[in-house]
Amino acid sequence: MSQTKYAIGVDLGGTTVKLGIVSDKGKIVQKIALDTCALDGPEKVVKQIKKGIKELLGNNKRKIEGIGVGAPGLVILKKGTVENPPNLPGWGRVQLGKRLEKEFNYPVFVENDANAAAVGEMIFGAGKKHDNFIMVTLGTGVGGGLILNKKVYRGETGAAGEIGHVSINREGRLCNCGMPGCIEAYAGNNHLVNIVNEQLPERTDSLLYKWINDEEKVLDPKLIHEAAQQDDKFACEVITEFACNLGSGLASIINLLDVSTVIIGGGVAGFGDRLFDAVKDKIKERVLKPIAPRIKVKAARLKNEAGIKGASSLVFLRG
Ligand SMILES: [Zn+2]
Repeated sequence: MSQTKYAIGVDLGGTTVKLGIVSDKGKIVQKIALDTCALDGPEKVVKQIKKGIKELLGNNKRKIEGIGVGAPGLVILKKGTVENPPNLPGWGRVQLGKRLEKEFNYPVFVENDANAAAVGEMIFGAGKKHDNFIMVTLGTGVGGGLILNKKVYRGETGAAGEIGHVSINREGRLCNCGMPGCIEAYAGNNHLVNIVNEQLPERTDSLLYKWINDEEKVLDPKLIHEAAQQDDKFACEVITEFACNLGSGLASIINLLDVSTVIIGGGVAGFGDRLFDAVKDKIKERVLKPIAPRIKVKAARLKNEAGIKGASSLVFLRG
């Protein structure tokens, strides 16, 4: 019987660094979380990451194959350089991979967090049986990763896969990137909340209106889901519209790549079958006819600690 292998996965976020020791089957055997201390600048953040790894290695007796890091922003594979990550002020360029390799003497693999999520699904999750798929992560932003022939497609610099910034309306809502009509401007959490808020005054008969105005509940994607679960017409319409926007954008990407499997993860993916069915229907309606029968829309399988698992999977992919 082959021996289980282990890797350390580091999920570098704007507020928290999550770290874990993960088996080659995708099981987390030990995990910790530390403050990122982003406002104290890159040196402090690197210090926090090192502190976390040291803590994990402290009483570990398993054989560690390497360290994988999922980081926001543009990642250049050589030297594991992280460039201008959003939410980490003052970074510029940091050779994170090289510095961790020097400190710990393990192979270190750094990748953009959305790409790491895609690799995680390929190694451990819903993408296991697929040579090609499009990964979409719905959160504050809309992240994307492309797996082509079992590899991450990185483009010329590593910036490929920005599905969130595919425009579905050249005169549409303004995206955080400064351009109009990006998928993210319709499907990112904050934008979704804004869209609901704009329509709410006209929807006084909806559960959402009652909950927000009378019960002072906070409007977030979870609340929209709860209302839809109770068949609230407005909430259902919001989710359908959301799915149509996402599906239209994905259909264009599918036509370009001839990749028929989409895996959707992130918080809003909790909208469940209502979202997945509507996205699938919209894609089928919009793609070129020969592709339509092959379309699959799947939920990401790595839910809790997907970031740590995705980061560790970088080691199993290349190690
Ligand atoms: Zn954009």
